[in-house]
Amino acid sequence: MPDDRRRRPPPSQPPKFRPPPLPSRPSDRAPQRTTGRPPQRPPQQTQRTRRPSYDYDYDGYDNYDDYDDYDDYYDDYQRSRPRRHPQRGRQPQRLKKGPVVVLLLIIFLPIMIITLWGRGGNEEYIPVLVPPPEDEVEPEIIGIRMHTVPLTTLRDTGYLKLVNRDLPMSHDMDYYTLVFVAPILPVRADYITVHRTLLTAMQSLFAQADGVGPFFVTSGYRNVARQAEIYENAQDKRYVMPPGHSEHNLGLAADIAIEGVPLMSAYMSEHPATVWLAQNAWRHGLILRYPYGTEHITGVAYEPWHFRYVGRPHAFYMATANIVLEQYLQMLAARHESLTVPLDGRTYHIWYHRPSAGELLVPQDLPFSISNSNRGGFVITAWEYLSGS
Ligand SMILES: [Zn+2]
Repeated sequence: MPDDRRRRPPPSQPPKFRPPPLPSRPSDRAPQRTTGRPPQRPPQQTQRTRRPSYDYDYDGYDNYDDYDDYDDYYDDYQRSRPRRHPQRGRQPQRLKKGPVVVLLLIIFLPIMIITLWGRGGNEEYIPVLVPPPEDEVEPEIIGIRMHTVPLTTLRDTGYLKLVNRDLPMSHDMDYYTLVFVAPILPVRADYITVHRTLLTAMQSLFAQADGVGPFFVTSGYRNVARQAEIYENAQDKRYVMPPGHSEHNLGLAADIAIEGVPLMSAYMSEHPATVWLAQNAWRHGLILRYPYGTEHITGVAYEPWHFRYVGRPHAFYMATANIVLEQYLQMLAARHESLTVPLDGRTYHIWYHRPSAGELLVPQDLPFSISNSNRGGFVITAWEYLSGS
């Protein structure tokens, strides 16, 4: 192939720059002789032009004959070639894998360590072995066939787990049960999560609040580290639990605020929406955990905003009997027979039982759920459907 540029003598004067004429139609364009360059897409291509393959001087030109249409070929070529920088026309600098991996490790390793450390830190709340109080008795369950089952084969709902100033949670909660409250319900901050059962309960509660409120969730699950931070900074420790002692650490409690009403104001405790919440929470399995005048039992001052999920039959009984969770569990543990609660077309049989040798006595034929009370025994809730109702 002749090369004119090589044979031509060097010019005495620098040649005057003259821009080459821009091709107006694809057919006007001169064949390109650039080496290793792809064919450029003809501008304003109105008709499809078949170009002979010898116009192109680059490695892949042979393939062109496999295509019936220049556009198809060009598109395929563009797809197969490495991307170039659109302006500078050169390859973007490829990132080297080694430094990237090291950089990622530097960023994520401390995060992982902190996360795992945080979880590990919660392990210090080892199970509290509360000796059976004097009044705790072994209940006699009449009319229900029972058998013993290893505890490891049963799912602990944790709905009746007692956590208070004296009793820390035995271990951290299961993170997989947490769900985001937003955008399902109005929240103070989008990051707020709660136990999924609590969210469902609040959904039905908020849905029934017709003309009262509007409510929003101002606090949900807190990890133990966050609780420690809040406890350290709290001015009035009557409202804040030490880390591991808060129901917020369980994910089963939420603070429900009324739009435009500050939590700690006297206005809040007298607000009609507050009264409505206290009267209707049980319908959705929730209890007002720290009612007025129970500070000597709960260890927490009156909190009209703090609601805890326990489940419908338990919430119903506590609301009807006007007792708090501490009293309810104490009452169950002291009973000689099961507690019977008729609700929702069912008869609930509820009792407290202390497992022995890792086994728990549970109903053989009835559906039931269990919850660790965190005070040595489990609450067993069995139910049968009322026939003919
Ligand atoms: Zn709270």
